[in-house]
Parts: sequence; structure tokens; C-alpha cells
Amino acid sequence: MAWNSVIGQEDVKAMLQRSIVGNRIPHALLLTGPRGIGKAAIAIAFAKTVNCSNPIVTDTTYDACDVCPSCIRAAKLHHSNIQIVTATPAVKAGTAEEPASTVSEELLEVYESLAADPYVPTRIEQATQIRIGQIRTLKKSLALSAAEEGRRVVIILDAEDMTAEASNAFLKTLEEPHDNVSLLLCTSHRERLLPTIMSRCQELTCSPISDQLIARSLVEKGMCTEAEAVLIASFSEGSMSVAYSFVSEDMAQLREQAVDLLRQSLKGRGYRSAIVDSVQKNCDAKNRKGAVTMLSLMALWLRDAAVISASNETPNIVNGDQLEPLKKFVAAFPNANYSACVKALEQSATDIYRNVSVHLVFITALLRIRDSVITPNRIRQYS
Ligand SMILES: [Zn+2]
Repeated sequence: MAWNSVIGQEDVKAMLQRSIVGNRIPHALLLTGPRGIGKAAIAIAFAKTVNCSNPIVTDTTYDACDVCPSCIRAAKLHHSNIQIVTATPAVKAGTAEEPASTVSEELLEVYESLAADPYVPTRIEQATQIRIGQIRTLKKSLALSAAEEGRRVVIILDAEDMTAEASNAFLKTLEEPHDNVSLLLCTSHRERLLPTIMSRCQELTCSPISDQLIARSLVEKGMCTEAEAVLIASFSEGSMSVAYSFVSEDMAQLREQAVDLLRQSLKGRGYRSAIVDSVQKNCDAKNRKGAVTMLSLMALWLRDAAVISASNETPNIVNGDQLEPLKKFVAAFPNANYSACVKALEQSATDIYRNVSVHLVFITALLRIRDSVITPNRIRQYS
């Protein structure tokens, strides 16, 4: 089964299967959409499926069998019909245009990594461009007859990396389609492709993956606990690779620090020094990405509090494992203005990107939160 290795993207999967069933397999496909949502995964599943010797076919579905020799080699990306093109490092002046042999080794690593998990970002170190030499090599190989039965599939990763020369050379390949060859271009920057290339490809737009599917996939892959997965998914912007980047972050620990910051800001007497101490302890002044994550964790916590305080219903909260502390928090501040808190945190994230001092941003944010959480309760008390 090839398609079940692709997370979500049901429309794209269905469309591709229908094209195979109806014998209308496109010669050139352009898979677009944000980074890390599975464009390479779709391309690989397609390549495996069209090369399977015993496909599982219905009126509308067409899937690989997973057990024939072709499927087994396709799963490892050791298949002469499946070729990957990706950016290579700059060639030193005075040397040949063709990639050096060390690059081939690095390219093998790209194949291995994609075969193991197509959602892990793959890029050869210091590689920025797909060069004309690579496109010429590709053209030569396509001109030869195939080494085995099936359909040759060329997967071009980050197609926007093609230089102007490479793009123009590639355009010729697109204009003269070969029998039994599909060219699959993947890009998260379609605006950087030549319009002439785009117009010769059938475009399929891939969508961000839902938080639920990302969380489930992280748990299935054994990468984290369910509670962590829900938290990570809410940060992932629909991208598996963004989600992976948070897996190593110890989100539970970060959240604990974020909640500690909130608690210190709501202390009674001495809250100012408590805030300053906690910010110095919990916030790394040099880690701006970490700072933004921490602000988002605080915002998520307060959003959950807002949900509980508004309806007392909890199915939609992100910090599901923190229900009791959240309920206590809500009970302690019945008139808190949560939307003002979240607004303050969003402003703070913008300030971090504007290079304002991390500690200053946090202290300001926490004082604003204090105002929005505690003051409305005081007013009520005194009125
Ligand atoms: Zn098979």
C-alpha cells in the first residue's frame, strides 16, 4: 500500500488514482503547497504505485501491493524507474560541470532519508541550485530506453531551485514528453518557477495537514506522548517537518516554564521582582525562536482557560492533560480578560521578530497579562 504512507491529502491521492485507473497518467505534474506537508511523500507513493506488478485495483482506487519485487525496491528507493533530482552544491571554478562523486554519495543519502521518511527535510549541505548539468544528465537518461518495465518517474525536489539555464533546458524536456515517463515537480515556492514551466504541468495543490492527523502520526511513529503530540501539532502550521522540529524541543518542559512565567506575573506583593527573576531563569535571551514558542505556549494556555471559562466544555482544548490546573486558574480569576492577554502575547511575538530584547518583551507581556487578568477582578471586588 503506497497511499497510506501519505498523511491526509485525500483529494490529491484520489485524483492521482483516478488518473491511473482511467489511463490518463500525466506526463508532467506540479505539486505545490507549503513545506513539509507531503509533496515528496505523494510523489514517491505515485512512483511506487505505477510501478507495482500486482496493483490492488477497484473502479476508482489503485494501490501498490507492497510485496512484489518492484514494490520492495521502490520502498527503499532502489528502483531504476525512480529518479530524484535535487539541488547540489556549487561547482568549484575550473572543474567539470557534472556533479563530483562525493555529491553522488550525498545524493544517495537523500534517497535513503526520503525512503525512511519523506517528511524529514532533505537537502545536501550547501546545495542551493539545480544546475543545467543535472538537467542534461536527466535528458540523456530519459533518451535511453528503460531498464525495466513500468513507468519512469522523475521527482524534482524544490523545483524552484532550478537555475534559469536549467529551467530553460528542462522546458524542452517538458515540450517533448516521453512515453511512460512522468515528471513530478515539487515546490513550496511556485511563484519562483518560470510561467512556461507551470503552464506545461498539471498543478495539484496540497493542503496543510490537520492538527489531528499530525498528532496521530507523531504518536504512531513513537516520537512523543499523546499530550505532547497535541501540543506540537498546534504549532506545526499543518507541516509534518515543522512538527518534527518541535519534537526535539521537549515541549512539556517548555510549557512548564511558560506556565511558571504566568504564575509569577499573577503573584501578590513582590510580583515585579518575581517576574524579572522568572524571565531571567526561563527565557534564553539569544534564542528568539524559542522565545516565540514560549509566547505561543502561554497564549495556548490562556486560550484554553478562555474556552473553559466561557463554556466549561473541554473537548477543544490543547492542553488536555492540564485540565485540573487550568480549571483552578479559571476559578481564581473569574473576570480575566483573556482576549486582551492573547493580543498582548501576539504583539510580543511581533516585537521579538523586530529584534526587541527578549527579556524586555517578556517582562512587558507579563505585566500586561497581569493587568488583564487581575485588574478586572479587583474592579468587580470594589464596585
Ligand atoms: Zn507491488
